[in-house]
Amino acid sequence: MEPTILYIVVLPTVFRVALCGGTHGNELSGVYLVRERLKRKRKVEEEDHIYVVTVMSNPRAVQQCRRYTETDLNRCFTHATLSGPVTDKTPYEIVRSQELNTLLGPKGSPEAMDLVCDLHNTTANMGLCLIAYSDCDWISLHIYRYLQRQMSDIPVRFIHFDLPLNEAYSLDSVGKHGFAIEIGPQAHGVVRSNILSTMQEGVQHMLEWIHLFNSGTQFEGGKVDVYTMVKNVDYPRDFETRGITAAIHPQLQDRDFCLLRPNDPVFQTFSGETLKYKGTEPLYPFFINECAYYEKGIALSLARQRSVGIPSIRSEREGEQRKRKSSAEEMEEEEEIKGEMEEEGYQKLIEYGEESDSLNGQYN
Ligand SMILES: [Zn+2]
Repeated sequence: MEPTILYIVVLPTVFRVALCGGTHGNELSGVYLVRERLKRKRKVEEEDHIYVVTVMSNPRAVQQCRRYTETDLNRCFTHATLSGPVTDKTPYEIVRSQELNTLLGPKGSPEAMDLVCDLHNTTANMGLCLIAYSDCDWISLHIYRYLQRQMSDIPVRFIHFDLPLNEAYSLDSVGKHGFAIEIGPQAHGVVRSNILSTMQEGVQHMLEWIHLFNSGTQFEGGKVDVYTMVKNVDYPRDFETRGITAAIHPQLQDRDFCLLRPNDPVFQTFSGETLKYKGTEPLYPFFINECAYYEKGIALSLARQRSVGIPSIRSEREGEQRKRKSSAEEMEEEEEIKGEMEEEGYQKLIEYGEESDSLNGQYN
């Protein structure tokens, strides 16, 4: 008989939550969701078990309805950029990234927000995606599974960019936990009611989950599918002018997360020729024909799908608070648990609360 796997990981509550929109000023679902919350409520909401800060990340770009004014804000949150010098000539978005890091971070520190959720839109047909840098952050993965179960009318997926924290470049990397919620298709500069409602619903379910978690609900473990980014594919380009010479093939357009096999059509050149996928490994395409990525030289991205085991989790109860660890130590520990979960099959209870109580209460 197969031994039963019973893991219960006890984690600190997710009390301080940042909800950010307008990081890209023309992705209007997040802009209007944040604007409405700021209109209806105070900037900071404090309810039982949860404290939410609502942030318009790039107000200048929002005002101009552009992705950014000088440089892409959502590429500015690496350690290098956040700790770089600021002069009169520093682009607005770099200055703003440092302000946001002060407000919501500092990134990698015990003072950072427990969770940063950043709202985005894509022109690609991606449904709702959570995008994160870790595939073993149990909080993010449990929220993902909760959204998947609660929102049956839209596909909900999890994209994992495999980068270390210091190289992680997006706003959500400032929090102890964090992810972007990316919803599409919606043209930039346009707001569609169906996409906005989906985003509102997603945010509501996320806050609901956090509330339940903080109130002591135990969430059962299981398996979830995760798409790990493998590579970006650029458009075919003219050797001299560098201008693009083909568009996404009609058979690939809008087919995000449909398996792309060797020799499947990828591009149709402007002279009508079909260009095929030359890779040997079947992979899942996403961000197909994303408007904002023409300037970045990305026609689509490719991911590998994996099934990831997640343990049962609950929040720590009074007296269980553990000594705060650095993000690096936490990540190492999570990796270890992941390894053990893969190797072992016997009953096990993992308690995070046993080391010291010297920092008790800092989350209250
Ligand atoms: Zn965006």
